[in-house]
Amino acid sequence: MTDNFERVRYEMPSEGVARIVLARPEAANAQDYLMLSELNDAFDLAAADEGVRVIILAADGKHFSSGHDLSASSPNMDDFPTVGTQCHFNAPGAEGYMAREAEMYLGLCWRWRNLPKPTIAQVQGKVIAGGLMLVWPMDMIVAAENVTFSDPVVAFNVNGCEYFVHPFEAGSRLAKEMLFTGRAIGADELLQRGMVNQVVPENDLEQATLELAAHIAKRPMFGLTLAKQSVNQALDAMGMYNSLQSAFSLHHVGHSNNKEVHGMLIDPAGLKIVRDEA
Ligand code: ZN
Repeated sequence: MTDNFERVRYEMPSEGVARIVLARPEAANAQDYLMLSELNDAFDLAAADEGVRVIILAADGKHFSSGHDLSASSPNMDDFPTVGTQCHFNAPGAEGYMAREAEMYLGLCWRWRNLPKPTIAQVQGKVIAGGLMLVWPMDMIVAAENVTFSDPVVAFNVNGCEYFVHPFEAGSRLAKEMLFTGRAIGADELLQRGMVNQVVPENDLEQATLELAAHIAKRPMFGLTLAKQSVNQALDAMGMYNSLQSAFSLHHVGHSNNKEVHGMLIDPAGLKIVRDEA
């Protein structure tokens, strides 16, 4: 595996710490399959490196991520080495596109969520829909004061982004409000709700995240892994994985309905709703 990527950058900013950076700021780090595939390779590199104990996921530019790249042409899965057990990506109908999203969205996110090393998201600016799909699988979140989290995709006639942990992250009332209204949640509210670990001035973001990572990296690897798995298993016992799978199925009922009614996976009228409210 190489660390020569197009859409992400792989760095070792201090001892025991790897940093993976989304490097497509000209497109607000919109995610195409190439970015997600490279991100997965970079996480695998960090996981396999005995010298890495903590992994930071950061992003170049003003915004962490604007979500899926809606302008990307339909991807050919032969271009992306798969890491899950999905197949029939080119099948017609729901079978093909459900398999693609199961591999590239839910499958990769769940893989990253279960990496055996602590992960920290370093976030600034807007984190929209699919952007949350990268942030929420991380263990901890350090946010700049200008950060906002939003998932406005109900406007596109689906339930939300594919890694549907909103009730676990925001609690059920705020999760419903986020989804029903598309409202962006700012840094103060994110901190107050326990949806991020720290809020720092934008200029201090990189340093504060690195200090936290370096602090954690002094601890023994196995202890960190056991602590992480213990918390994750508590979430799993609360039904996190089952609810993710249920919501993913409903997400695809939404896509299939849009395909029948509008001939595409999302309701095109959603773009105007989202743009008018931005
Ligand atoms: Zn989808």
